[in-house]
Amino acid sequence: MLIGIDDTDSPQGMCTTYLGAVLARRLIHEHMQVKEARLVRLNPNVTWKTRGNAAIAFNVDGDADRAFEIACATVEDLSDLSCANTNPGVVVTDGQLDPAFYYKAVTNFCEIDEAVSILTDAGARYRGWKNRRGLIGATAAVASELKDRTSEILVYRTPERWGTPREVDRDSLFAAELSTFPHTWDTVDTINDVVVCVPHTPDPVLFGIRGESPAWVMMARQQILSEPHGIEQLYVTNQGTDAHLLPGKCGHLFERLSYVVPGVVTGKPATKEGGHVSFTMNDDDVEVRCMAYEPTKNFRHIIRQLVPGDVVIAVGSFKKGSINLEKIRVVSLARPTIIRPPLCTACNKRMTSNGKGKGWKCKKCDGRSEEPEIEVISRTLKTGWYEVPPTARRHLAKPLCRGEPYFQP
Ligand code: ATP
Repeated sequence: MLIGIDDTDSPQGMCTTYLGAVLARRLIHEHMQVKEARLVRLNPNVTWKTRGNAAIAFNVDGDADRAFEIACATVEDLSDLSCANTNPGVVVTDGQLDPAFYYKAVTNFCEIDEAVSILTDAGARYRGWKNRRGLIGATAAVASELKDRTSEILVYRTPERWGTPREVDRDSLFAAELSTFPHTWDTVDTINDVVVCVPHTPDPVLFGIRGESPAWVMMARQQILSEPHGIEQLYVTNQGTDAHLLPGKCGHLFERLSYVVPGVVTGKPATKEGGHVSFTMNDDDVEVRCMAYEPTKNFRHIIRQLVPGDVVIAVGSFKKGSINLEKIRVVSLARPTIIRPPLCTACNKRMTSNGKGKGWKCKKCDGRSEEPEIEVISRTLKTGWYEVPPTARRHLAKPLCRGEPYFQP
């Protein structure tokens, strides 16, 4: 059977992945076999998410009616039902659902009724609390198909420490990254000298290590020194796979969906108040603005080097009419020039225009020239892919250390 759960936490606490880790232990206690724990991130632009729009699914052997009872009881025990925006959903199916619903939930928006009708047609056991919105994520999680997959080991705090400052040895995090990157990523941000994998929110997570496989994340995890911790759960995930990206075209982008969009830079990048950098690009005479926000730190240095005529591929979510950049490919570089009146070869003085199309002349010696001086500005920017640093990376964004970006066909 597959068990899906979503929407159990609130900004004040809890985390659906922790609830899943507790559920897995309760199922094992009842002699069920938990074959896989899956952490699925969905459309990162849904407004009602608490943090990272995560849902979970477990592949379990055992009695499905009993598992449904235990899953519902675990949600009642642990979820923050007092929060207005917490609307849990639990789903138990006998097998995989059509992955179309997962693809829609990770790239687009779904309705609660759509999830309910899929569950009813599949004869699934399901329960939604309050407005039942969690059924969307729970259904998407059990419908998920991970063509590309990564791993995360989540280490949780003991309940008495929840809400207190976390103690994780900084040096051990940097050492773990050094010895396992690029097979693990986003433990720390070495360029910006920031720890990334330890949250600051009051939830039960102590830290999480992301990487290519269970073996790599465990290798990093074993090097990390911390306060005495509670349970740990290894998840298979769609994090770092670009599962949210669709092919896009200027003029055909929908709000709050995420795209890979080709274009030619038309406007010089400008740094706005707050340090946000923006430029415009164009494709087929349609213009769109691209944004590199302040938290993207050094990525903005790359964006500031773009000039009109550069051919790029912009990757990010389309929000309020702008593409919020996660990555960019500089496909080809324009050769910008400065055109000036030529220098007089006799006097070494700059000539003046003789009128439109009539060349230039030297005021001093009356010398003439038909050609202006053309200076080609040299570029330090190189073609290739560039990405935001780990501190600004979205859960779903595929780090370049994993290879070329992917988008749904
Ligand atoms: P949690 O740890 O509780 O899962 P979260 O940050 O992942 O926290 P949720 O609290 O789960 O966010 O809130 C996200 C809500 O949005 C859930 O109810 C989920 O069912 C719903 N949802 C997820 N993806 C979509 C989508 N594509 N369209 C509509 N609703 C969605």
